[in-house]
Amino acid sequence: MRPSLAPEDLLVAETFGPTVQGEGPSSGQRALFIRLMRCNLICPACDTPYTWDATRFDLTAQARPIAAAQLLWWALGQDAELVVITGGEPLMQQRRLVPLLAGLVQAGRRIEVETNGTISPTPRLLELVAQFNVSPKLAGFGAGMSASRRIKPDALATFAASGRAIFKFVLRTPAELDEVADLARSYDLAPVWVMPEGATAAAITERLRVLADPVIAHGFHLTTRLHVLAWGDQRGR
Ligand code: SF4
Repeated sequence: MRPSLAPEDLLVAETFGPTVQGEGPSSGQRALFIRLMRCNLICPACDTPYTWDATRFDLTAQARPIAAAQLLWWALGQDAELVVITGGEPLMQQRRLVPLLAGLVQAGRRIEVETNGTISPTPRLLELVAQFNVSPKLAGFGAGMSASRRIKPDALATFAASGRAIFKFVLRTPAELDEVADLARSYDLAPVWVMPEGATAAAITERLRVLADPVIAHGFHLTTRLHVLAWGDQRGR
């Protein structure tokens, strides 16, 4: 049975922190995380399938409807200026997010939203979010999905024009950098960050070493996954 969702509720997988933002330009900053349920993609290498994959998880057991006011109360009770909204695909609940984000901004918190870049943010969301970490899925990571499902030009154009987006690509090999460069050129995506795929410190480190020089040669930024280096694939870190 689906959990009933009141108009003021968000469908949440988990809240955690303070921890650190592990990826991208804010890497290392103290942060809280609010992870929302549901996704509109089905990436085989997804590291949070419990937010969307009903074939492997009991989503009813994973999901908690939580009122925006309760999430706000929790976040404001923690010692962290940065609040990261992640998923799943959090923009699937973007209208429900507005009261929470408005309360956080009013209290002086900085908000990052992590998104796969397939859903255009509303103007109100664009006002409230300091940074969108947009992660379009490459053919390898998003294997089994058509390009037209993974890449939505209108949504990417909105993010690119916002001045509030960074574009983060998850790579397995340097050969995928040409695909990143094509996307960046086609849709004016900048700045571009490249991150190695991996759920263990060993996998991340090995791929980072192989990717580092080619990423720099392409003119892109490089990020690791700090939380994986520190805590492996522990959930809620
Ligand atoms: S877009 Fe993100 S959350 Fe959704 S399936 Fe892909 S990796 Fe998982």
